Amino acid sequence: MYLLDQLPEEWDLGAVPRYRRDQIRDWIYQKRAASFELMSSLPKELRDSLQSKFSLSPLTLEKLQGSKDTTRKLLWKLSQGDYIESVLIPASPALYGEKSDRMTLCVSSQVGCAYGCRFCASGLEGWKRHLTPGEIVGQIIETERVTGERISNLVFMGMGEPFANFENLRKAIEMINASWGVGIGARHITISTSGLVPQIKRLADDPLQVRLAISLHGATNEVRNQIMPVNKKYPVEELIEACEYYQEKQGRMITFEYILLEGINDQPDHAEALARLAKRVFAKVNVIPYNKVEGLPWDRPSDSKIRKFADVLKRHEIKITLRLEKGHDIDAACGQLRLKKVQEEQVDLST
Ligand code: SAH
Ligand code: SF4
Repeated sequence: MYLLDQLPEEWDLGAVPRYRRDQIRDWIYQKRAASFELMSSLPKELRDSLQSKFSLSPLTLEKLQGSKDTTRKLLWKLSQGDYIESVLIPASPALYGEKSDRMTLCVSSQVGCAYGCRFCASGLEGWKRHLTPGEIVGQIIETERVTGERISNLVFMGMGEPFANFENLRKAIEMINASWGVGIGARHITISTSGLVPQIKRLADDPLQVRLAISLHGATNEVRNQIMPVNKKYPVEELIEACEYYQEKQGRMITFEYILLEGINDQPDHAEALARLAKRVFAKVNVIPYNKVEGLPWDRPSDSKIRKFADVLKRHEIKITLRLEKGHDIDAACGQLRLKKVQEEQVDLST
């Protein structure tokens, strides 16, 4: 049993007094103790009994790629022998200024993904399992421990569809958001979804005030059906209605993510349709040049085509972000976690 999988009030600690429970909680979330042994304010018998009944963290670092000031990828081995990745992204000085201490972690929510968007590497191998709450929150705690960084922002844009794992996601966010927990404010947390309508509505009704990003990638059923099977279940009109409902309930601006794929969704009339939807739900648009995935047939359009696309949106006074630099920002780092490849590299290294 991993203590990180349950809220502290759920821990089965027997007759341990309340203040001891709080101490254990603080050792885990505030002081980030790496073992029960290190929890020096607890009596030895209690430490031993915890040690025999529980484990602390369900993930161990297998590999850390990249260096300070750049994007770093962390490969985690999970207790059941699965691997997941998180990506640590420092603020881009161009966007946030030289002095920004914004540090974003992109986390995974599942091993694999069942949604099979045609352009995405995460779904290539299909879905394996949900991450537990501890495996989600553990990505933050362990990343801070191994890098010494303080994470200010969190995006659920790693492997998996977070809304397909709603219960565990919800619990993890509670631990992440709580002042006794990791302590990241809800407004600094963004959930990205390919468009699961019932869960968008559930989030709208939830007191948690986290941000929502919709992986739109197409403003019509015609385009979305080509690249995102989820659209057959929740077509554009239903998705937009759910976004409107979220807007109404939460009053927070939604982000539309829009990957540009050459010849699929990159024409000026696609931009016009996107502008109409963005206006309708007061969304801002994050235009993302596609990062090529080996083995898949898609390409990113030329920079001039990308700019033209963005210009149409600007003409309609849509709030947009567009980053053309490669390899440094969230968009280049997330959503394309090629687990198998990394695992193969691991094997290569060890032979
Ligand atoms: N399943 C969720 C969250 C993970 S994907 C979702 O789909 O929203 C995070 C983002 O990365 C999504 O917007 C996804 O469409 C995008 N993405 C996937 N593959 C990508 C690639 N090769 N290049 C750029 N973005 C990609
Ligand atoms: Fe899954 Fe998101 Fe990739 Fe689609 S884009 S396959 S929902 S991880």
